[in-house]
Amino acid sequence: MEQQKRIGIIGGGLAGIFAARQLVTEGYAVEVIEKSQSVGGRMATRRIDQGTADHGAVFFTVRTDELAQEVDEWLEQGLIRKWFGDDFPRYIAVNGMNQLVQSIARGIPVHLNEQVERIVSDAPGLQTIASEETRTYDAILLTAPVPQAYDLLEASPLTLVESDHARLGKVTFEPTFVGLFEIQETLEIGEVGLLDEGLATGMLKIVNNAQKEVSATPLLSVYMAGDWSESWYDKGEDATLAEIERLLQEQLGPVTIISRQLKRWRYAQARDVFRTPYLKLDQHPLWLAGDAFLDPKDTSGRTRVESAVISGLRVAAAMDAHFKAVVTEQ
Ligand SMILES: Cc1cc2nc3c(=O)[nH]c(=O)nc-3n(C[C@H](O)[C@H](O)[C@H](O)COP(=O)(O)OP(=O)(O)OC[C@H]3O[C@@H](n4cnc5c(N)ncnc54)[C@H](O)[C@@H]3O)c2cc1C
Repeated sequence: MEQQKRIGIIGGGLAGIFAARQLVTEGYAVEVIEKSQSVGGRMATRRIDQGTADHGAVFFTVRTDELAQEVDEWLEQGLIRKWFGDDFPRYIAVNGMNQLVQSIARGIPVHLNEQVERIVSDAPGLQTIASEETRTYDAILLTAPVPQAYDLLEASPLTLVESDHARLGKVTFEPTFVGLFEIQETLEIGEVGLLDEGLATGMLKIVNNAQKEVSATPLLSVYMAGDWSESWYDKGEDATLAEIERLLQEQLGPVTIISRQLKRWRYAQARDVFRTPYLKLDQHPLWLAGDAFLDPKDTSGRTRVESAVISGLRVAAAMDAHFKAVVTEQ
């Protein structure tokens, strides 16, 4: 009997978790390795006192049948709800975006708080090396944001051919600062709790998590634009947070701020995307996927929740096809 193939997935964001779920269904022994203390990646939510604030993805939209099918099930299970928009609905997770990924990941083996530092060849398979763990797999799927994935590959004694370097080395992401403000007042921001027009230069979105019905207390998430975040990236957290607060007060008029926090995303959105839903390294059983790997039919041209989901599903199908073809050849 053919031995069950072992697949290691680096990164427990949407792409990693969707790929994992699919590969488990196909009968593979899958493990997700995640450096943070929970799965979700940029589907990120923070508890602040009695409140809850999303500080990564704000909402998601649906263009593909595959995600539409998931959405129907999530709506039925009460995991998500429509926030606003009739022709092109914006969906949100009921208890914060992170909770949705945690629900989908239930039952998938995940090693948390484990940052993979190197990947080494252990032909015909591969090993992941974190500071205290070495794990051996038949194949690896790497779903970190592309610049982080490329750094990891460069730090690893693997053979990357010129085309791998050329493709991966050119992709850059922009950073995003998000200021989180617990406020005294019960404030209404627009009809649904989202302000994304007529904002001061540098501000991208202001979200009221209470109006979004994610938070029991008034908590604002203030998303700064990529260019602004780039220019403030090295100015220090205190100065950056103070400037976001100044812009917020100017925008909304005086509000009483009870507490403030800053989230700095080094890799928030890709500036350049791939027009292929995954990549496989030429010389190793190692695939790359994630939100920057777009299906050629994706008309948005941007990294987003849906591009991560579709990339995860496509790469899982490709890995499965690869192993089935190997068995047929033998
Ligand atoms: C501020 C912000 C706002 C956004 N707003 C929206 C929005 O409104 N709508 C929308 O559709 N999209 C939005 N997005 C984009 C969306 O969140 C992402 O496209 C999607 O969540 C990416 O999923 P992913 O699996 O590709 O990557 P990630 O979620 O980044 O997952 C990668 C995972 O890999 C882990 N990792 C990295 N390196 C290692 C390592 N060496 N070892 C172990 N683990 C590792 C990371 O910790 C992370 O959990 C937003 C993103 C940000 C940052």
